[in-house]
Amino acid sequence: LLVQQKTALPKRHLATAAESSKTVDKHEFQAETRQLLDIVARSLYSDHEVFVRELISNASDALEKFRYTSLSTTAESELAAKDRPLEIRITTDKPQMQLIIQDTGIGMTREELVSNLGTIARSGSKQFLEQLKNDPSKAKDSGSNIIGQFGVGFYSSFIVAQRVEVFTRAADPKAPGLRWSTDGSGSYEIEEVADVEHGTKIVLHLKTECREYADEDRIRAVIKKYSNFVGSPILLNGKQA
Ligand code: ADP
Ligand code: MG
Repeated sequence: LLVQQKTALPKRHLATAAESSKTVDKHEFQAETRQLLDIVARSLYSDHEVFVRELISNASDALEKFRYTSLSTTAESELAAKDRPLEIRITTDKPQMQLIIQDTGIGMTREELVSNLGTIARSGSKQFLEQLKNDPSKAKDSGSNIIGQFGVGFYSSFIVAQRVEVFTRAADPKAPGLRWSTDGSGSYEIEEVADVEHGTKIVLHLKTECREYADEDRIRAVIKKYSNFVGSPILLNGKQA
């Protein structure tokens, strides 16, 4: 279901005449996705920090995809900023209670945002839902380890975040910058925005009880634990993590 909405741009984007006529697309999450997000967001799952591993592994995959694509595509007209540094940048913002995970990888088009972040394609997430169908009591079982057991990928962001924004720009030089945003309940929005770097930036607006993930030392410790196998440099607040 796709509802086209004309909405005024948020004030923080300095709206030009052209931009202010741009639309915000509102999409409903697929029913299964909604169910999954609901469980993830309410989980009292103790191993909160697995979301860091999932987001770093997605960033790393995106960098690998860019590397691979840039080997087979030599024309600047097909691939933007070919010589960009390939890295993962993590930023903690304590006052704003934000954790930002950015990569300079392959990025996503509007269609990819919808199919990759709006539906459940991942096998781990499917198995997770199967388990719940077979034994619904597991959804209520806060001690259950099924989130960690199957891995819910990108959706694990909602273990710690009350709102997630994804800024992304695909590798095609003509690809627009996009902002995907949701509080994890029924729907998400996609709009075109200016000044987005090629790649993907995930902004997690942390739940109050998860504010520890906006702390540099805490994040450094989690990165150390999970990033042994990451093939690209990880910068934490501008320095090698
Ligand atoms: P998986 O990594 O197992 O495919 P995820 O839920 O972690 O499942 O991610 C879903 C999809 O979203 C990925 O397959 C990828 O297509 C897309 N995606 C997620 N994060 C990024 C990113 N940082 N850059 C580009 N694409 C991404
Ligand atoms: Mg993943």
